[in-house]
Amino acid sequence: MDDVRRRIPRTDAVLAMPEFADAIARLGKDGVKAAVVAAQQRARQGEIDPAGVPETALAALPIGATSLCRVLNATGVLVHTNLGRAPLSEAACEAITAASYYTPVEFDLADGSRAKRGLPVTEALLAAVPEAEAAHVVNNNAAALLLTAQALAQGGEIVLSRGEMVEIGDGFRIPDLLTSAGARLREVGTTNRTTLADYADAIGPDTGFLLKIHPSNFRISGFTAEVDVAELARLGPPVVVDIGSGLLSRHPRLPDEPDAASALRAGADLVTASGDKLLGGPQAGLLLGTTEIIDRLRRYPAARALRVDKLTLAALEATLRGPRPPVTAALATAQEQLAARARRLAGQLTEAGVDADAVPSTAAVGGGGAPGVELASAAVSLPVWFAAALRAGHPPVVGHVDDGRCLLDLLAVDPADDEALEKAVLRVREDAGCT
Ligand SMILES: *Cc1c(COP(=O)(O)O)cnc(C)c1O
Repeated sequence: MDDVRRRIPRTDAVLAMPEFADAIARLGKDGVKAAVVAAQQRARQGEIDPAGVPETALAALPIGATSLCRVLNATGVLVHTNLGRAPLSEAACEAITAASYYTPVEFDLADGSRAKRGLPVTEALLAAVPEAEAAHVVNNNAAALLLTAQALAQGGEIVLSRGEMVEIGDGFRIPDLLTSAGARLREVGTTNRTTLADYADAIGPDTGFLLKIHPSNFRISGFTAEVDVAELARLGPPVVVDIGSGLLSRHPRLPDEPDAASALRAGADLVTASGDKLLGGPQAGLLLGTTEIIDRLRRYPAARALRVDKLTLAALEATLRGPRPPVTAALATAQEQLAARARRLAGQLTEAGVDADAVPSTAAVGGGGAPGVELASAAVSLPVWFAAALRAGHPPVVGHVDDGRCLLDLLAVDPADDEALEKAVLRVREDAGCT
């Protein structure tokens, strides 16, 4: 036993080995040291040979310093909330990297004076949505609604249809969010039908604003009625529209999904939206509206608590001004293209001995957008056991199980990642030693 202990290499000696330099640069010394100590412990317990300590420690190290690694989304859900919603464009990723150094977020490089934070993003938003007089960005759409309720309706009333009392997810409900801002809710109409008269009757001296919320994650059909923005705008009080998914203008493939430009043209005074759904950008809350309202929101004390960091500003500006982000590109992909990719992938996998088929599939926008809309897609179908094995790979691939098969839907997979997808499947097959 003593002999084994004597043969265990010292921590310092292991950490000084050249193959550990890269790991320390990537992960930090403490994390690497912990892995070495754990491997030494295993050697002491006789589980591994003392000479194997460095190798065991290296094998136990995580790939990166964060568990938020890159995942291939083959679920067929384009904006997958559990997978971080929208993947950023390369331009946005580069913008984040640049802005993570010192960056002129509140500085005018031309004359060396202080500059207004967020101005370039605001200008990019107004260029994309000329219908808005002014714009402001906060942490997310929930923050946009909170700020709006506080600044425009604290101590007063928000008029909202009973058909639009939305639970966003994870137990968070917009009505609770609004009342937590110190506003009272004035519910009007019924779950399925709300009329203009319902809103008109509810308006009084306490009315802060009329709120329209897009039911972005459910659908009511049958005997229904709702009031459109143009009609609400004629009633007098400010009209606020939560469009949810962040489409700035109409999308031909999503005819029922509300967009910011149309809502403003119809007379909305303020539109709120998420930045990381169909806009395809970073998590953010977009506020677009009249100069008067945006100024009130911007100056409201809580605005400082809800403001976004420089990384978000950088990514959002690059999303708005740069090449189209992956979500937009995916939405524009025809089923033929997806089917051709599925056939090519399945063909190559079959050749390598994997039980793979190209099959048609149905994808969805997901993440609180275009509920019920089915996007024609294509998938590679594999034996069901691949699902768990692929999730455990590097990079992890998340597919979905349907009818006893593991389906890898290609809609949300960047075509540039097809090769990585193929390699991931082949690696899993090799590790398992079967098809
Ligand atoms: C997604 C969504 C929200 C919440 O947006 P976050 O950016 O996640 O805070 C609010 N309202 C609607 C209609 C939504 O679809």
